[in-house]
Amino acid sequence: MNIESEIRKRARELLQNGEINAFIGFAEGTLPGVVIPFIATEPQHAQKLIWNRLCRMNLAGYLNRFKASKVAITAKGCDSRSIGILVAEKQLDRAEIKILGIPCEGMISRKKLEKRFGPLSELKQLVLDDSNIIIIKSDNQKETVSQDEFLHSACERCMHRNPIHYDELLGELVEEKDTFETHFIKAKEFEKTSRTDRWKIMTEMLLKCVRCYACRQACPTCYCEECFVDSRFPHWVDKGQHPTDVMFWHIGRLYHQAGRCVECGNCSEVCPVGIDFDAILAFQAKKVFERYNYDAGIAVDEVPPLQNYKTDDPQEFIL
Ligand code: SF4
Ligand code: SF4
Ligand code: SF4
Repeated sequence: MNIESEIRKRARELLQNGEINAFIGFAEGTLPGVVIPFIATEPQHAQKLIWNRLCRMNLAGYLNRFKASKVAITAKGCDSRSIGILVAEKQLDRAEIKILGIPCEGMISRKKLEKRFGPLSELKQLVLDDSNIIIIKSDNQKETVSQDEFLHSACERCMHRNPIHYDELLGELVEEKDTFETHFIKAKEFEKTSRTDRWKIMTEMLLKCVRCYACRQACPTCYCEECFVDSRFPHWVDKGQHPTDVMFWHIGRLYHQAGRCVECGNCSEVCPVGIDFDAILAFQAKKVFERYNYDAGIAVDEVPPLQNYKTDDPQEFIL
């Protein structure tokens, strides 16, 4: 049985026998090449669930909406690590969640596809076929490309493709390709630049931000009921586009993600002005790993280092 059929079967069974009230997975979107998060609450919804290499999004954040009920979720390596963080931070009760772990071969980047083929909404059809993507622009315009050519940047250097936390495993474990050495190549490139240059790169990139907060909404570990940027009492940061406020927002968000970010790429994927957080988040993850020997989302019994003050903690400035 393939993974998609297995997901549908288990979702139907779990909803039918009342073990869960909701099943979080993916369904086909309405545009070619687009899949959407989907929450099945009735056994007959299970047939809408899908699984393919477009199911890139980290779904763990949806669990925050089901705190009081039993829920099941499909989880790749990155989703399972974010669940690990949420459990460690006591946002979720692990006993209430059934995790269907799915080893991941790396997901396809919609942005990379659009860069090459233009808006997916203008395609007639996009079909995934074994290891290929068939792009159908019109009845007589068809192109076949390799799926691996369009690997999402987060997946290019992922070292936890297999789920870390799960109750059931669907499919065979995959070979982990990346090590800390290869995983942090991008971080090392960023680190080679001087502090002054790093600040210049960051400000040039981040000041494009229009403060829509889509990155925050898409992040599984941004769950505060009131974000510091929205707070009026105390009033940490003004609304608007003043550079100080924009940078304060981003530095605040980055610090809040230190040791908690699993580098899933959700935030970069949804940014409407194309800000790519990859290098900054990788650099931050490397610092946390080197200084605290902590890899986000692996241990559910240990909170991330910035929530765990020790008098002998390293004191250097993080960036
Ligand atoms: S980051 Fe890793 S686990 Fe997540 S989609 Fe990419 S390859 Fe899969
Ligand atoms: S900060 Fe971005 S990359 Fe990190 S966990 Fe959140 S959405 Fe994923
Ligand atoms: S998604 Fe992009 S534009 Fe919107 S707040 Fe985040 S960085 Fe800024």
